[in-house]
Amino acid sequence: MNCNILIINARLLENPGSGAITAQGFVAVKGRMISQIGQMGNLPKDFKADKIIDAAGCLVMPGLVNGHCHAAMTLFRGLADDLPLMTWLNGHIFPAEAKYVSKDMVYWCSKLAAAEMILSGTTTVADGYFFEEEAARAFREIGIRAVAAQGIIDFPAPGVPDPAGNIEAAGNYIAAIPADDLVTPALFCHSLYTCSPRTIQVAKQLADECSCKLFIHVAETRAEVKNHYKQYGITPIRHLQKLNILDKNTVCVHCVWLDAAEIAILAKTGCGVITCPESNMKLAAGVAPLADMLAAGVTVGIGTDGCASNNDLDLLGEMASLAKLHKVTSLEPTSMPAGTCLRLAGKEGARALGFAGIGSLRPGMQADIITIDLNQPHLTPFYNPDILVYAASGADVKSSIIGGQLVLENRRLLTIDLEETMAKVRSLARQLA
Ligand SMILES: [Zn+2]
Repeated sequence: MNCNILIINARLLENPGSGAITAQGFVAVKGRMISQIGQMGNLPKDFKADKIIDAAGCLVMPGLVNGHCHAAMTLFRGLADDLPLMTWLNGHIFPAEAKYVSKDMVYWCSKLAAAEMILSGTTTVADGYFFEEEAARAFREIGIRAVAAQGIIDFPAPGVPDPAGNIEAAGNYIAAIPADDLVTPALFCHSLYTCSPRTIQVAKQLADECSCKLFIHVAETRAEVKNHYKQYGITPIRHLQKLNILDKNTVCVHCVWLDAAEIAILAKTGCGVITCPESNMKLAAGVAPLADMLAAGVTVGIGTDGCASNNDLDLLGEMASLAKLHKVTSLEPTSMPAGTCLRLAGKEGARALGFAGIGSLRPGMQADIITIDLNQPHLTPFYNPDILVYAASGADVKSSIIGGQLVLENRRLLTIDLEETMAKVRSLARQLA
């Protein structure tokens, strides 16, 4: 057996959410894929590996999928906290973006976000912002798998001063992103309150022509739904359906304020939904009807949202928030089990983003693998993987492989100068202080 990377002596969590663990296992990686997996006793005697990772004391599992982020917003982390969504957006974030978002800013701040995500177990991120080609460049360089979506908005935006050119700019963006396995281009219409129905329709047409995903924030706050109804006489989800926007290539982010008929629409059309519990909690947006969506068969993933409204990009922490938020809201401790959170932050999130080969450890799947150091007081003893949701944090992630490339080893990032990146972001932040 020849392979590039061989992980040995590991506890294997092959299908997060199923609970089954292989006590003493190995995973072989060849090229970008997992080539073999099994128990140490079955490791072929003639194996040859370029790199061996001894994962004794570690849990080895598929990398996590962050279904919604605005990576470059690391610059605005902690800039304006404890505000209602519209005050936060119109009074702080949009003005700061108009003034400080540049190509340089997007590149360095996305790089910092990618570093934070890799250090906390994320191996795939769906991002949406302006100057997204710079985010794509940062993601490719650091080696994180990404769906990188160019922002579309009917106002003057960074890189697109005339909104009349926003769709043309989006088309140019998709054409300019080199096709590779790691970074997939997509489009991101900010919302129904910042994009006209016509803009969203044309963007969807472009997305379909280019076979790419269209993301949109929708039904995030009660006021948004109320105002939309007042303006158009229809709720946002029904409106999107009427405009023929909803299908399996559309991803609706937030979906907090839905009625039963809208949940049925999301299930029927097959579009993906990304829930962002910490962002929704921090902006007091509300609690998404997740249990109802899952019961109806909606494909749901978890996102951190931008870290200006979170304020971190740690998906392990996000899973804990998700589980506890839904329990306390429903007053029902069985309403959001840890296993469900693990599925949403992995295989289901990947499915919402259109990736079939991500989210479990088996031959033929992408080699997106993380190791978690269980040799920690707060992770002792280890009875089952639920502890990942209720006691682990991103800081417990020890190593990470993405698409067959080792990007994190013993908590050292191998593909980025982290000190340089943090220094660049600090110097950008000095303009805002
Ligand atoms: Zn967002």
